[in-house]
Amino acid sequence: MGVFILVSGIIGYLGYSADKEIEKTVTDQFNRQQLILARKVAHAIRNHFNYLETNLFEFNQFWERDIKRPDVARTDIASLFALVRDWHVLAIVHVDRKGKPILTLSEQEFTDGAGLGIDYEEYRQWGIKPEHRGKILAGRTFRPEAGLFKGRWLMVMATPTYRPATGHGGDSGYQFEGLSLMVVDPIGIAMRYARDVRSGKTGYAWVIDHRGTFLSHFEDTFIGEDSFTVRQRRNPRISYAQINEAVRKHLLKGEEGAGWYISGWHRGVIHEMKKLFAYSPIFLSKEDDTGNLWSVAVVAPEAEVYGIIQSLVIRQWLIAGAFQLVVFACLAAAIYFSLRWSRILQAEVDERTADLRSSEAEVRQERDRVKESMQKLVEMQEKLVRSERFAAIGEAAAYLSHEIKNPLMLMGGFAGQVEKSLPEDDPKRQKLKIIQDETRRLELMLAEVRDFTRPAKPQKELQNINSVIEDTLALMENKMMDKGIEYKKVLDDRLPAVLFDPQQIKQALINLVKNAVEAMAQGGKLVISSRREDGHIKVSVADSGPGIPPEVLKQVFNPFFTTKKKGTGLGLAVSRKIMEDHEGEIFVQCEEGKGTRVTIALPIKPEETI
Ligand code: ADP
Ligand code: MG
Repeated sequence: MGVFILVSGIIGYLGYSADKEIEKTVTDQFNRQQLILARKVAHAIRNHFNYLETNLFEFNQFWERDIKRPDVARTDIASLFALVRDWHVLAIVHVDRKGKPILTLSEQEFTDGAGLGIDYEEYRQWGIKPEHRGKILAGRTFRPEAGLFKGRWLMVMATPTYRPATGHGGDSGYQFEGLSLMVVDPIGIAMRYARDVRSGKTGYAWVIDHRGTFLSHFEDTFIGEDSFTVRQRRNPRISYAQINEAVRKHLLKGEEGAGWYISGWHRGVIHEMKKLFAYSPIFLSKEDDTGNLWSVAVVAPEAEVYGIIQSLVIRQWLIAGAFQLVVFACLAAAIYFSLRWSRILQAEVDERTADLRSSEAEVRQERDRVKESMQKLVEMQEKLVRSERFAAIGEAAAYLSHEIKNPLMLMGGFAGQVEKSLPEDDPKRQKLKIIQDETRRLELMLAEVRDFTRPAKPQKELQNINSVIEDTLALMENKMMDKGIEYKKVLDDRLPAVLFDPQQIKQALINLVKNAVEAMAQGGKLVISSRREDGHIKVSVADSGPGIPPEVLKQVFNPFFTTKKKGTGLGLAVSRKIMEDHEGEIFVQCEEGKGTRVTIALPIKPEETI
């Protein structure tokens, strides 16, 4: 928007200055044309006077040559006058050397020259000077107060009449005999050439004499009036100081030039306006009266010039406007498209970002899945290794127990028989008793090893775990009482029946309770609880024993790991094997000093529950 305003401003400024430039050029051009017109008018008037001068010389020749036959001259003089009448000559006069009119011809009447009301003395004074022989004086305009031309603007052209001296002598050989004069109508002459001049459509020309009196003007009422005052009368609200000064300083000084001034009217229209004008002088008398000059001015209102350039200016502004419109349209289009383009880009970017985000989430999910399956794989491998190891151990144990069992039973049996055969107080009986005890212990151990190694695919049946717990406690009750252990059942009686091998699960629970009891040699508390949690049925055996130190805890599930003198290290290992065979879990939680809590968890499979 700012750019647009700036461009508009620049265009506006350029247009304006171009306008001014054009206006100035056209104004100058226009005034030059006006000056040419003014010069032409001045030239025509000058030529007019030249023509009159020729005729005046001709008229004078009648008196210089043939004074003796004035009657003959009269006819010729009459025809001459008829000729010059059309050239605004009002009268031709001849006066004698004393200044007395001899012949006057006006309006085809020969009259007494005195009746014209013109004083010839001033012309006689000039003509009597010998150096003025053969010269013409153009007099200044004047208005006689009496006579035929009373109140009318006149001008007199005079030339002296000299004849060769006839004996009485004379300085130059010529003798002043009188004066030939032409009375001319200055207004007629000025109007003849200036009146119909047109500058532009409505411009016109005016002519003033040496005094500033209008000799010709578009306005009839101005003719013969003083230009310095008549304008003021026409429209008094405007100061004409400017034009008056120009007239005084330039026109009446015989200068040629152009300029402008403020006027109060133009033709019929009366209001303030600027006028362009050009002026050119007419020198009527070069040597004898340099101040006797007229001036022709050609004026036109400035509006004339605008009339000429208006269509040009309008066209120029139209072009500028159209150009600006195009610029604006281009700008708008550019903004629109760039906005649209960025919107499209934004949408694209958003879409891509969303895609990326969703694929990132997918990748993360995939990664988690891979991690999970890796974990499973590792666990499976561990289990596999474990079961391989179990299998190997199991085979060895089965073989050993088979090999050991019979001789062991024999040894025990024989020891019993030998003992019975000895008298009550025989000291050897004691030794035989030890053999029997140790044999039984070994037998038990063998049984445990056999349990552990027996290939045991669970014989699953739908059972409620609580009944297995009851069975286990029934088996262990006596042992606990012996050791001074209190026990407590916290059973959830809303548990569903699930599929499991009751013998194996009972074995696992017995192992846990046994460990708890063994951990509380000085007595304590045992809590056995059942509950439903996280899609599993869980059974915990908690004791108030010493707990398990961390470095031991790491190994408790290893087969044959034991901290007990007569332990086998198989209880937890077997239990875990059983839980794994049930797709369940076993875990130990303990806090040192506060006891141990071992939990088994059986999965609840909806298709296997009731
Ligand atoms: P064993 O009982 O023959 O030692 P187990 O596999 O049953 O073999 O137990 C392994 C070891 O775990 C035990 O020797 C004992 O150190 C530890 N343990 C098991 N249960 C408990 C318990 N409730 N409190 C303290 N220690 C226990
Ligand atoms: Mg044990």
